[in-house]
Amino acid sequence: MRDFGATALSCTPSCAMHLADAARERGLRPEDLPIRVGFHGAEPWTNELRLQIEAGLGIDAPDIYGLCGMGGPGVAFDCLCKAGMHVSEDHHVAEIIDPETLRPLPEGEVGELVLTTLSREAQPLIRYRTGDLCSLTSEPCACGRTSARMSKPIGRSDDRLIIRGVNVFPSQIEEVLMSFPEIEPHHQIVVDCTGYLDVIEVWVEVDEDIFAETMGDLGSVSSAGCRRRSATCLASRSRSSSRSPRRSGVRRARRCASSTGARRPERARLRERQARRAAIIET
Ligand SMILES: [Zn+2]
Repeated sequence: MRDFGATALSCTPSCAMHLADAARERGLRPEDLPIRVGFHGAEPWTNELRLQIEAGLGIDAPDIYGLCGMGGPGVAFDCLCKAGMHVSEDHHVAEIIDPETLRPLPEGEVGELVLTTLSREAQPLIRYRTGDLCSLTSEPCACGRTSARMSKPIGRSDDRLIIRGVNVFPSQIEEVLMSFPEIEPHHQIVVDCTGYLDVIEVWVEVDEDIFAETMGDLGSVSSAGCRRRSATCLASRSRSSSRSPRRSGVRRARRCASSTGARRPERARLRERQARRAAIIET
């Protein structure tokens, strides 16, 4: 940033906080950096984290909201009042619905954000369910703009996790795990933080046959093989819908564990369900 004289930064909030920590570790003060503003989004973040980023980098840090289905960032932006993101209503109609009943909710209530495109010609979307939980207000903002404002998303209506700005569905992890015959269906997904960066740990139950005389034999379930299968699974999923079928028995976890609750006799049923899901994705 110093070499190029960059005055603006756009990245995930966790990445911005990581940069602020790295600058401090190098003895840099906020005023030593040329940046004045940072646009951060793509993962949930709080106003408290915003204040830390602003203090750490010496910038204003407005929030941005968007999603790939709507063309990426640009659906809503904070003004410098930072009192809710102004929806770009010349391009999008925003609604809030109850994710269970699908009925519209009154202004101010938290529900699932639904968007309709107004200006897209090649791929218009009508009442697209984003899965993000937030609220809307039409109260005029102190900045003078009169467009609707949306709150920061506070969660998801499905089981999607957002790790360092990347969407991860527990079903993707399950697909990778189930490709290993040595691994039982029972597993836990633990989401934690290292510094400001999210980290996933997957705890698995292995078949008793895998226990050998030496720990070195456990290398047969190689990390290289796991990475290859993970990449295949994620690539396959990224080409498919960004929405995940609602799954029972999996809870979003942060600093705690969730579990599929599946038992050994259910392996066949799980494989059958995954085959059906894969067929749906391929379709
Ligand atoms: Zn405003």
